[in-house]
Amino acid sequence: MGLIRAVTDLLLPRYCKVCGRRLDMGEQHLCISCFLGMPRLEYLPEELSLAERILLTERNVVRAASMLKYEKESDYSKIIYHLKYYNHPSVGSWLAEIGARELRDKGFLDGVEMIIPLPLSSVKQRRRGYNQSAYIAEGISRVIEIPVADGIVTREVSNQKQAGLGRFQRWNNAEGLFSVAQPESLAGRHLLVVDDVMTTGATLCSLIQTMEKASPDIRISVFTLAIVE
Ligand SMILES: [Zn+2]
Repeated sequence: MGLIRAVTDLLLPRYCKVCGRRLDMGEQHLCISCFLGMPRLEYLPEELSLAERILLTERNVVRAASMLKYEKESDYSKIIYHLKYYNHPSVGSWLAEIGARELRDKGFLDGVEMIIPLPLSSVKQRRRGYNQSAYIAEGISRVIEIPVADGIVTREVSNQKQAGLGRFQRWNNAEGLFSVAQPESLAGRHLLVVDDVMTTGATLCSLIQTMEKASPDIRISVFTLAIVE
């Protein structure tokens, strides 16, 4: 395995997704110094996380956590670009696996029965070729061995772009974005909803409200790879 990696590294060098430095054999996605310098958020069960401050207003939300602080100007935002736009979604499952191991050890993932990636609209998914949140969900699934439920919730094709809208407009625009295809499969379950970056929380709240309406006795926890402070 080591020899194969050495040969492929020679022929197809891999680069750090943050600083661009060529990766050594043992490094994955990020060089060791960028990995150690990640703007991490520690989950402390006894304190409200940034995500919980926004999402605990929703009745059925139990817990919420994010792994990284997202700052647009920071080089670390390149991780999200790679994940969403540069066709490198495996960086999402790799990071989520690391985050999930820590969260599992703190009890954050206790009782979770199903992982639901925030869906993209069919048009957007076709254009991008993948759903980045599904990759994040896969990373978590590898750690807790709970299945990823794809296709239970779907996203309508939105007629307006979220980017460029003000906070209030975003809230309005987020209404009616999602629908639940199989409400019976959610009943009574504890679900982990997964997204890439949380900004205002409007899209996540819209999904949570749709799920609550379809199946009022569910419990929901939320994990996002990054969050805007
Ligand atoms: Zn680096």
